[in-house]
Amino acid sequence: MVDTQPNDIAANVRRILSLIPESVVLVAAAKTRSVDEVEQVLAAGVHVIGENYLQEAEHMRRHIGDRGGVRWHMIGHLQRNKAKRAVGLFDLIETVDSIRLAVELDRHSRAMGKTQDILIELNSAAEPGKSGVLPGDVEPFARELMEMDHLRICGLMTMGPATATPEEIRPWFRVARREFDLLRAAAPRTASTPIGILSMGMSDSYSIAIDEGATSVRIGTALFGPRRRAEVSG
Ligand SMILES: *Cc1c(COP(=O)(O)O)cnc(C)c1O
Repeated sequence: MVDTQPNDIAANVRRILSLIPESVVLVAAAKTRSVDEVEQVLAAGVHVIGENYLQEAEHMRRHIGDRGGVRWHMIGHLQRNKAKRAVGLFDLIETVDSIRLAVELDRHSRAMGKTQDILIELNSAAEPGKSGVLPGDVEPFARELMEMDHLRICGLMTMGPATATPEEIRPWFRVARREFDLLRAAAPRTASTPIGILSMGMSDSYSIAIDEGATSVRIGTALFGPRRRAEVSG
């Protein structure tokens, strides 16, 4: 069970911030949450909001904007036909999982005069039907992205498989760490490949992820409490 105190978001934020190293970025995974709830995590010291759905992200940005330097990450699956909206909304798109999506993001970024920061999504356990680049394919994938002038590869993101116990996900976080190290070795750290972000770990697994080298964790339930509303698409 995830340990949460659903009625005190500020206390949850403070507790998690006290448990993770200062160098690790806490991304509040905000799917299905209200503007008020997101404002509470920001007031309590969160600086990055992760969104799964463009419609929710647009709604949040209308109400919150860039207030206090908040940064917006796309952490949900992104369809190619929504690339333009995503480029307009997000500081970092964590879920680039295909060349065709990357081409669209690059094209719209160029049109908007933007360099879009992205992470490559890794399917660390090579699960069939799940999005993400397979271990072993990351370097050739990254090489194709490096040809795209308006994308900047900042690192890797992984979900990892749903496991019966949090500890069982550890080997998959190790795979992600290994792929991250290989990617860094393959791509010299330059302005166009500032590879420094390894985004992995959620409410029940963030401490294991940090053990295994995560630099960024995406946490929803342990900050906001259990999700109430049904998830929507868009
Ligand atoms: C919902 C979500 C999270 C956070 O999950 P919790 O278990 O609520 O902490 C992290 N990453 C992604 C991609 C998500 O969709």
